[in-house]
Amino acid sequence: MSVKPFSIAIDGPAGAGKSTIAKALAKELNAMYLDTGAMYRAFGLYMLRKGAVNDAKAVAASVVEVEINVEYIDGTQHIFLGGEDVSRAIREPEVSMAASAVSAVPEVRVRMVALQQKIAEGHDVIMDGRDIGTKVLPNATLKIFLTASPEERAKRRCKELEEKGMPQPYEDVLKEMVERDYQDTHRAASPLQAAEDAVRVDTSALTLEQSVAEMKRLALKAIEA
Ligand code: C5P
Repeated sequence: MSVKPFSIAIDGPAGAGKSTIAKALAKELNAMYLDTGAMYRAFGLYMLRKGAVNDAKAVAASVVEVEINVEYIDGTQHIFLGGEDVSRAIREPEVSMAASAVSAVPEVRVRMVALQQKIAEGHDVIMDGRDIGTKVLPNATLKIFLTASPEERAKRRCKELEEKGMPQPYEDVLKEMVERDYQDTHRAASPLQAAEDAVRVDTSALTLEQSVAEMKRLALKAIEA
């Protein structure tokens, strides 16, 4: 294996399995995992509390003052807003939409990308999000664009929310997911799109184990190249 730190960028729409697969892959490859969506969610929550999610001016002004920190406790990523651990609060559905809204503001992207690059510096890292291969890690060792059908993604998200004790009706989850995909792919600033050199992996018909195995195969091939 090469001695230079490796970086793996995983992008794709909501619910494609990015975080579950990235976490498992990070364990297998002994790498750091950074869930960049959690950072946008934390800022979305901050703006929700301020009651100004859709005020682009207020959003741009607030992103320079907000204090967002990522810490690893027993190997699990926790996200802090000021001193408050908001790791659970950011999973509420209204925070998903708020994250999507604030992430469309260019000033927000500039600050988050800089924070993400700083956190990853010098580490073997696996990052997931919407702009990792295109903006955050443009020279990543491997770029993956992970997809699955909207129905399959909504099914998985329902299961995840249920396991977290936050169940939501399937129809609501599907609707929110389609809306959020639209918002994320149609924004002017860093819209969700596959990097030109990304490998596309469709997980619709794959189990989690199969998805992780395929990603590991791709990762080892890229790292050893
Ligand atoms: O990945 P997750 O669903 O937690 O992300 C929440 C929202 O944050 C996304 O819908 C997207 O709008 C935004 N996001 C982003 N860029 C990233 C990660 C997330 O714009 N790198």
